[in-house]
Amino acid sequence: MPKIVEIALSTPVGENGLYHYEVPDEWVDDARAGVLAQVPFGARELTGVIFDPDAAPLAGRTLKPIKAVLDPNPVVTPAGIAVARWIGDYYNCPIPEVLAAMLPPGVGRRTAYRIARLDGVTSSGRLTEAQRRVLDLVPPGATVALDRLTREGGKGTAQAVASLVKRGLVARTATLSRMAGPKTIRTAAWTGQEPANYLGPKGRAVLAVLRQVGAPLSVAELGRHVAGAAAALPPLQRQGLVTVAEEVVRRDPVAHRAIAQTFPLPLTSEQRRAVDAIVAALRAGAAATFLLHGVTGSGKTEVYLQALAETIELGRQGVILVPEISLTPQTMDRFAARFPGRVALMHSGLSEGERLDEWERVRAGQVDAVVGARSAIFTPVANPGLIVLDEEHDSSYKQDRTPRYHTREVARRLAAETGAVVVLGSATPDVTSYYLATHGTYRLLEMTHRAATALTPQPPLPDAGEGEATMVACTTGSAGVSPVPAPQRSSRAILAPIALGKGVGGEDLSPSPASGRGGWEVRAAGLPPVEVVDLRQELHAGNRGVFSRALQGAMREALARREQIILFLNRRGSATFVNCRDCGFVARCLYCDLPYTYHGATEELVCHRCDDRIDPPKLCRRCNSWRIRYFGLGTQRVEEETRQLFPGARLLRWDRDVIAGRHGHEHTLDRFARGGADILVGTQMVAKGLDIPRVTVVGVISADTALNLPDFRAAERTFQTLTQVAGRAGRHALPGRVVVQTYAPEHFAIDAASMHDYTSFYEQEIRFRQEAGYPPFARLLRLVYSDKDEEICRVEGERLAARLRTALTLVRQGEVVGPAPCFIGKIEGRYLWQVLVRADDIHPLLPLIPPGWTRDVDPMSLL
Ligand code: ADP
Ligand code: ZN
Ligand code: ZN
Repeated sequence: MPKIVEIALSTPVGENGLYHYEVPDEWVDDARAGVLAQVPFGARELTGVIFDPDAAPLAGRTLKPIKAVLDPNPVVTPAGIAVARWIGDYYNCPIPEVLAAMLPPGVGRRTAYRIARLDGVTSSGRLTEAQRRVLDLVPPGATVALDRLTREGGKGTAQAVASLVKRGLVARTATLSRMAGPKTIRTAAWTGQEPANYLGPKGRAVLAVLRQVGAPLSVAELGRHVAGAAAALPPLQRQGLVTVAEEVVRRDPVAHRAIAQTFPLPLTSEQRRAVDAIVAALRAGAAATFLLHGVTGSGKTEVYLQALAETIELGRQGVILVPEISLTPQTMDRFAARFPGRVALMHSGLSEGERLDEWERVRAGQVDAVVGARSAIFTPVANPGLIVLDEEHDSSYKQDRTPRYHTREVARRLAAETGAVVVLGSATPDVTSYYLATHGTYRLLEMTHRAATALTPQPPLPDAGEGEATMVACTTGSAGVSPVPAPQRSSRAILAPIALGKGVGGEDLSPSPASGRGGWEVRAAGLPPVEVVDLRQELHAGNRGVFSRALQGAMREALARREQIILFLNRRGSATFVNCRDCGFVARCLYCDLPYTYHGATEELVCHRCDDRIDPPKLCRRCNSWRIRYFGLGTQRVEEETRQLFPGARLLRWDRDVIAGRHGHEHTLDRFARGGADILVGTQMVAKGLDIPRVTVVGVISADTALNLPDFRAAERTFQTLTQVAGRAGRHALPGRVVVQTYAPEHFAIDAASMHDYTSFYEQEIRFRQEAGYPPFARLLRLVYSDKDEEICRVEGERLAARLRTALTLVRQGEVVGPAPCFIGKIEGRYLWQVLVRADDIHPLLPLIPPGWTRDVDPMSLL
């Protein structure tokens, strides 16, 4: 019986893109799970991935044979296949779209065959004219692309190749086709032969250089020594004086920066406990999920690094995920520096070619870890042992296009398949994650103290950023232990400082407040104090500017001490809500208790849940003040006012408008980190992951913007952002200070953030969630319809809402909200309307949704 496989096509066809094919004998050995295959589909040829290599025959159906296995190495691991199927089911998305998200762009688009002449095989029997031509074009030992061969060989080449393959004279291999090929350089080397004939001056010069170098030299480099060297090479080659070769070089995404190797730090006791728990789970080898709740600066990264070292020691690999926006060189360096040459980096800042090279390194098993943004979860890591999601609360972990997967859920799924340990890290965990961690689904690890300030080495360190790590190792050395030996791949060496500390003193080096030994001094661990400024008071005191008096004062002092300042502006939702500057009142829908959104085009206030519309008030409903305004402030305005107030200060703006280009992020950040500016003004981006020693003042220009977005997560987002921003100040030896400006100082999210008090925030928020029936106490499904005609959106929305309401009353408790226009109501000339479903289980409803609706299961944003 022929072998039958199930193939997931990478082109969206049919209902879910899964089809059965027969495998011709020629490909039976290669047709394994996860490999790319080319198949006939109607009149077309498509590519797909073998999902089931041993599928059952379909009764009464004749199957078409696959055309070829394009690449004998799998592009998706067996666990990856299971995860892909799960994503398709759970997020209600056809498999081809899941595959599109999993495979790097360019993979599997086009077949690229290469023909190789087998060494030492000679032809017995006659050859046709065309066959002889092919063999001439492919000398023994050489490999030529089939494309080129057919171009140069003329008519009949393809057929000739096929029969030569059958006769075993040449081999045909299919390589993974990619838009960007591997990067190659041409090199030239002297063969050692002396010239027998006369050489021209160019030829002599080239030979002299190569002879002197004594090793292959890139042709480009050669050209720098001898002008026009490339043209002089062919005659030298013909005389056997020089060999020219193509070398595949890896594009190195971090090649343009020097990274100094770092070594494990002696852990604080909180870090020790976290690492021990994670390592125990790793050793146990069963899937587990930890929530590492550690305040900003508590040293979560060091926990990841040491857990990763153990993972590698166990012969498994790590997947470290970071939100795209905080995937700064700083973050990447911390991993690349600890495991030199053993880490692949995957993020959108890489060129397509760099990305493919990194992906290939993972696939070939050349690395121990992948560090990347959310899609790095799909790299074909052979045996993942540790999966880290840093800043797990970040909304970018949810993909905002189909498949709308949440990386956390995908990671847990993958872990379930492979017996891996998932570590979710955050200073401000997602409310749902914290709920699950306190109710037995995840295991909770808490770190409440800052690492760097808890341990201040003596003598004080210069502001060396990551160089600090090396300094720490030296400190250990001066305490009577020889310096850490040169790094090796083994994590024995990687864990050296700890092991040595135990060996010499017989005690744990983890510093405790009482010990004060070996050059370690402990001082009160501190998060920066946060001052909340009531903008209503500022106004009453006659200050109409962007900066409160308190913030101005803090900035002035910092500038005088030559320290640095970060100003944070939440741009999302600016100019969208109506706010009274006297009493802080915000106009809200009476039915939904959500802030109205101001629509400039129609000059009305719209509720984005129930579609209630009113005219903007002329007077404040609460205090009758006429000082109502449409809230909105851009980075530009902040920049202008900063220049006026602090004319001498060097200012840097960091937002999406300014940061263009491939290394824009890096350059702005590097410049600020090196002290090239005094003040950094920015939006969301400045909130994440920055660790700059000289930053002592953080100013939040307006905390209210995010608070007044019509989304049940508004309070959570505000708390998270404020806490993260505040965490940027005073991370090292210099004490920090944070000023938060707001019209709603009494709001619990702002109050809790100012106290760095996650627990108090969480307790109030979880009560609200329970009362209002939001996650984690219910599931949400967001359905969006778009059309050029707004009336069609409304009609379609009402039809769907009615259908879902009927279904819900039959099945179980739940609620259908809407239809209503989306918060971002129009994109590229198309109106957007949404219907929201809230229920214990939304999956039974999915089959009822007609095509044309975007489905978002477990939406992260309702905007
Ligand atoms: P988080 O990610 O929890 O906000 P980081 O991992 O960025 O914190 O660590 C904050 C700072 O503390 C970094 O400069 C880091 O090098 C330092 N640090 C972390 N762990 C230790 C330790 N055990 N000893 C000394 N410094 C540490
Ligand atoms: Zn008012
Ligand atoms: Zn409403």
